[in-house]
Amino acid sequence: MKKQIYERPLIHRINTGMMNKFGTKTEYAPVSHIDGLAVKDLIKEYGSPLFVLSEDTIRNTYREAVRAFKTRYPKIQFAWSYKTNYINAVCNIFHQEGSWAEVVSGFEYQKAINNGVPGPKIIFNGPDKSDDDLRRAITNNSPIHIDHLDELYRLTELAEEMNKRPNVAIRVNMDTGIYPMWDRFGFNYENGQAWDAINKIILGNRLELIGVHCHIGTFMLSPQAYATAAYKLSDLALGIKKKFGKTIHYIDMGGGFASKNTLKGSFLPGADTTPTIDQFAESITTALLNAGFTEKDLPLLVLETGRALIDEAGYLLGSVIANKRLSDGRRATIMDFGVNILFTSFWYDHKISPAQEFSSYTEDTVMYGPLCMNIDVVRSHITLPPLKKEDHVVVHTVGAYNMTQWMQFIAMRPAVVLIGTDGKSHLIRNKETIENIESSEVMPDFLKKHALASGILK
Ligand SMILES: *Cc1c(COP(=O)(O)O)cnc(C)c1O
Repeated sequence: MKKQIYERPLIHRINTGMMNKFGTKTEYAPVSHIDGLAVKDLIKEYGSPLFVLSEDTIRNTYREAVRAFKTRYPKIQFAWSYKTNYINAVCNIFHQEGSWAEVVSGFEYQKAINNGVPGPKIIFNGPDKSDDDLRRAITNNSPIHIDHLDELYRLTELAEEMNKRPNVAIRVNMDTGIYPMWDRFGFNYENGQAWDAINKIILGNRLELIGVHCHIGTFMLSPQAYATAAYKLSDLALGIKKKFGKTIHYIDMGGGFASKNTLKGSFLPGADTTPTIDQFAESITTALLNAGFTEKDLPLLVLETGRALIDEAGYLLGSVIANKRLSDGRRATIMDFGVNILFTSFWYDHKISPAQEFSSYTEDTVMYGPLCMNIDVVRSHITLPPLKKEDHVVVHTVGAYNMTQWMQFIAMRPAVVLIGTDGKSHLIRNKETIENIESSEVMPDFLKKHALASGILK
């Protein structure tokens, strides 16, 4: 017979049924393996905490998204949003699948070049492009998405100076019925700014306008908003055809489709409420097909989907440091990962599963990270079975924005492992070391010695 696990007795209020006032009970089954590999073994090999990505899930999610759009519209192209997760191994999975790169800084642009993406397949977005960034993008024939008039004028000067005709698109912001409106990026549709910029570009005749672009928000839960955006961008493209007889090569709908995470304050889990990729695809493609393009002029549909393609493929494995009782009697569990590496815990209630067998007792728990900082709370309320020191947990749906927005604060950043479709684990980012961090520090000569180190002070 299997040895029973000892659990210290505790007195608690019984929760009947599925729900309590904090929402659904957490997991009923432990998650002991990811893609066939044991959590315990992964932690033993690579340390705790540990980010794990599933190659299988990344490829399947991507192919599912391509299918959703391709079956509805004849010309589509995805461009991987680097800032969502720019670990090179991740980018290269998307590039192997045929995705272009979408970058928002000179740094990300260089990463895409280093990954071997050809210039014309790197979409350059964002408000901050230096002269050097622009020159490089012009030389490489990358589509440059203009964010503001100052950039438009500077690009015109550089085009003149370099005797080149850069390929450009404009970023357009608009009212899609979702508030607050994202109007800080690009040119507004309703007040005519976007149309002004288009006239300046085409009549200025130094830049080649090849596309119109929007990115209406992030974690969008409304497919209808995308239909509105697609109509408005189509209206601009059709207006250009009418006035100048010029065909716009692509309409870029940006990213922003919600992943299956649960926003804080939602009662139902995100997995049950997020629209499917088919619903987003249906809204966008129907709007484009009905907008009035002739078959010959139908634009290429570009998608810069980020989080919806990677979030579910990411897991964070961690271990319990300690348990304690707060002054009000509530249970607190301290984990070895916190908001330093799980940035998205500021706005999501991440699903967290114990990685080993547990009994049927559960208790409302506050889950803290390891930082010596009051805001380091991973979950303020989570219904969990009692976890013991050194027990492991699996945090789900963490593939988007954590491995780029993590910070080196108090602790060092953990390793990242990819579980390949070969069923093996592959290290794709080393755990940080003190040498990594201190290698960029410089010590001035006059600070190289001090009394404590020289042993003068006892
Ligand atoms: C961040 C960003 C994306 C990706 O957004 P998701 O919400 O991750 O899909 C796409 N395009 C632009 C311009 C962005 O800034």
